[in-house]
Amino acid sequence: MAGVAWHYVLKFIITGDAAVGKSSLLIRLTDQRFLANPDPTLGVEFGSKLITIPEENKVVKLQCWDTAGTESFRSITRSYYRGAAGCLLVYDVTSRQSFVNARSWLADVREHADPHLTCILVGNKIDLCTDDASSTSSAPKRKREVTTEEAELWAKEEGLLFVEASAKSGANVEAAFEQATRDILEKVRRGV
Ligand code: GDP
Repeated sequence: MAGVAWHYVLKFIITGDAAVGKSSLLIRLTDQRFLANPDPTLGVEFGSKLITIPEENKVVKLQCWDTAGTESFRSITRSYYRGAAGCLLVYDVTSRQSFVNARSWLADVREHADPHLTCILVGNKIDLCTDDASSTSSAPKRKREVTTEEAELWAKEEGLLFVEASAKSGANVEAAFEQATRDILEKVRRGV
C-alpha cells in the first residue's frame, strides 16, 4: 500500500431523529471525543476519516455527512443523499419513538438514495442501559426501550446491517462504519 493515501473515497450519510446522537457519533469517529452538551445550533455537518480494511488491503477515506439539525424540519434535500455509498440509520435504544421513526427515515433513504446503498441500523446510547454490564458510565441509567432482538429482526427484514453502539463510550462506533465499509467493498468486488 506504499505511496497510496487511500484506495476509495466513500460518502456516508447519518440519518435518524433529532437527539439520537448523530453528531456525537460523527465527532467520536473523527475526533475521538464526546460532548455531553453539544450546541445543537452548531451541528457538525461533515467529517472525514481514513480507515483500513486489512483483509481487503485497502485504505478507505470516509466522507461523512450529518443532517446538522435539519431533521426536525424534514427538509433534507436530494443533494444530501446523492452519491452516498453508505448510511447510518440511527435510533436511541432508550427511545422507542426514535426506533419507530426509523421506519420513515428508511423510507426517505429508499426514496432518495442509490438503491445499492449500504445501510446500517445503529442503536446508540447503550451506555445508558441498565443491562449493559460493561458500562462504566456515571450518568443516570435509563430504561432500554428497544431490545436488541427486535431491532436485529427488523434490520434483517429490511436488509440492513445492525449494531448497537455508544458515542459516549466509543463502543462499536468505528466498528459500525467498518462493517458498512466492508459491505460496500464487497459490492464493489462483485460489480454491484
Ligand atoms: P443528534 O441531534 O442526533 O445529532 O444528537 P447529538 O449528537 O446532538 O446528541 C444529543 C444528546 O445525546 C446530547 O446531549 C449528547 O451528548 C447525547 N448523546 C449522544 N450520544 C450519546 C451516547 O452514546 N450516550 C449518551 N449517554 N448520550 C449521548
